[in-house]
Amino acid sequence: MPVSSTYQRLDVPNVDLPSYFFGTVKKQTVYGQKPHLPFLISESKTLSFADLEKLTHGIASGLFNSAGLKKGDTLLVVLPNNIYYPAVTLATQMVGAVVSTANPLYTARELAHQIELTGAKMVVSIDAKVPVVKEAVRLANSPIPDSLIFTLDGTNRIFDIISPKPFPRVYLRTEEETASALSFIVFSSGTSGKPKGVMLSHRNIVSNIVQNMSFEDADEYLTARFSGIEETPHMIAVLPFFHIYGLTCILHLQLCQGRPLVIMPQFDLEKFCQLVQQYRCRAAHLVPPIILGLTKSPIVKKYDLSSFIFVNSGAAPLTKELQQEAQKVLGFPICQGYGLSESSPAITRVPPSNVVYGSSGRLVPNMEAKVIDDDGKEVGPGEVGELCYRGPNIMLGYLKNPAATAETLDSEGYLHTGDVGYIDKDGYNFITDRKKELIKYKGFQIPPAELEGLLVDHPAILDSAVIGIYDDVQATEVPKGFVVIKPDASKSGVVDEIHSWLNSRVTHYKRLRGGIEVIDAIPKSATGKILRRILKERESQKRKAK
Ligand code: AMP
Repeated sequence: MPVSSTYQRLDVPNVDLPSYFFGTVKKQTVYGQKPHLPFLISESKTLSFADLEKLTHGIASGLFNSAGLKKGDTLLVVLPNNIYYPAVTLATQMVGAVVSTANPLYTARELAHQIELTGAKMVVSIDAKVPVVKEAVRLANSPIPDSLIFTLDGTNRIFDIISPKPFPRVYLRTEEETASALSFIVFSSGTSGKPKGVMLSHRNIVSNIVQNMSFEDADEYLTARFSGIEETPHMIAVLPFFHIYGLTCILHLQLCQGRPLVIMPQFDLEKFCQLVQQYRCRAAHLVPPIILGLTKSPIVKKYDLSSFIFVNSGAAPLTKELQQEAQKVLGFPICQGYGLSESSPAITRVPPSNVVYGSSGRLVPNMEAKVIDDDGKEVGPGEVGELCYRGPNIMLGYLKNPAATAETLDSEGYLHTGDVGYIDKDGYNFITDRKKELIKYKGFQIPPAELEGLLVDHPAILDSAVIGIYDDVQATEVPKGFVVIKPDASKSGVVDEIHSWLNSRVTHYKRLRGGIEVIDAIPKSATGKILRRILKERESQKRKAK
C-alpha cells in the first residue's frame, strides 16, 4: 500500500509562477503594506519588492520587444546569486518563455551541453563570464548572436533594454495550462548517464512552494516563533539559485513567505556568521558541510547566531551524529529535507517541532510514496527498498529523452529516485543508500559517467571508472577515479598530469578530490557495465584496514 502524506491535502492554485509570486507576496502583511522595504539584499545593494515588480515588467518588455524572446523559447541564466536573479527569471516566464539555470562556474564545455540540449535563444550572465559563454555558444554550434548575450554588469546590459512598452503577457489559468507549460529546465544526471534537462512546469514549482508553505504553517514550533517577530524576518541565502534547492526553497519560497533575503554570492563561514548577526536572520537552508562548519569551527563562537529559529539541511545526507551534535552546540532545531531536481525539489521534511534524528522527514502535503524491492514489488513499513514518490511537484520528464523519462517515471506517475531507504510506521523517511550512480560533493551533482567519458579522452588512459567515497572530515562525498593506463604510455607522473588535464575541463567541484588510482582493469559485468559496487567495497575494506 502506498503511504500518503498525513498533512491536509491542498488545492494547488492554477496560476503561472510570476502571477503566483507577485500575488502571494502582496498578500503578506509586511510587503503588501510596505512594498518599499528592502526585499533582496546583497553586499551594498538592495531591491525593494516594488522595485522588483517594476524591474521584472521592464525586463519582460525588453526581452520581448528588443530581444525578440517569444513564448516557448528558452533563455539561459548563467548567474551567481544576486538581487536581480528573480527579475530575470520571472520576466522570462511572463512572456511565456522558459528559464534554464546554469552554474556560473561551468566551463565552456559544460555550458555548451546545456545550450545545445535546450536550444537556448539568448543568455543572461555577468561580464566576467562572457568569454566562456561565447566559447560555449561556438562549441554548441548555436546561432545565439553576441547581441543576445546580456550581462548584469558589463556591456550589453539587460537593464539597457528595459522598456515601458506593452508586451503580450502570458497568463496560465487552468490546470491543463499550468501543468503543461514549462517554467524551468534545470540540469540533473538522474539515475545514470550525463546531465539531462529536467522539465519543470509552472504547476510543479507553484505546488512545491505551497507544499512547503503549508508544511511550515502546520508546524506549531514555527508558527509560534515566526508570529512573535515584530521586524521583517530576514533569511540568509547562500546556496546557489541555479540548483533546485536554492531556486525553490530559498528564492521562491522565502520571498513568497514575505521573508527578505540576505544574499551571499558565495559561501564564507565568517561572512555568513557576520550577516546572520547583523540582520538577525531567522532561518537558512544549508547543506551538510556548512552544518559541520557551524558546529565545529571556532569562528562561529565569535558571533551571535541566536536569532535562528531553525536551519534545514538538504541536497545530501546529513548523518544522525552530526545532526545531533549540531543541534546541541547551536541550540536550535537542525532539520533535514530531502528531494531531487526531478521533484522541484522538496518531497520530505523534518518538522522542527518533532525532529527525528537521521530521518529525511515526513511527506510534505499531496505526496505519496511507495518503497519497492529489486523486482518492483512494494515492501512494507520499515523495509528497505527503492524510494518512489508521486505528487504535483514531480517533473514532466527529461528534455528530448523519452527513454530516460520512461526509466524514471512509471505508468502510475511515481518518480523512481534511485535512493534506497525505508519509511517507518510514523511516516518518517530514512535514506540509507543510493543505488544510482550519482555522486554529491557538498550538495553539487557529479555524474560519474561524465567524468569517465572525459577521462578516456586522455591520451594515456585506456579505461576509467569514478565512484563516490565519504569523507567524514568534510561531511561530504568526494569523487575518486580509477584509471587503466595504455600499455605503451609512461606511468611516471601520470596521475598528476591527469589531475591537471581534467581540472581544466570541469568545474571545480567535479575535480577528483578523492584521488586517482591506477589499476589493471575496471571491473565490469558481462554486458560491459562498470561494477562500481566492487570498487566501493574495495575502498571501504581499504579504509577499515587503515
Ligand atoms: P539534486 O537533483 O541535485 O537535488 O540531487 C538529488 C539527490 O541528492 C537525491 O536523489 C539524493 O541522492 C540526494 N539527497 C538530497 N537530499 C538528501 C538527503 N536529505 N539525504 C540523503 N540524500 C539526499
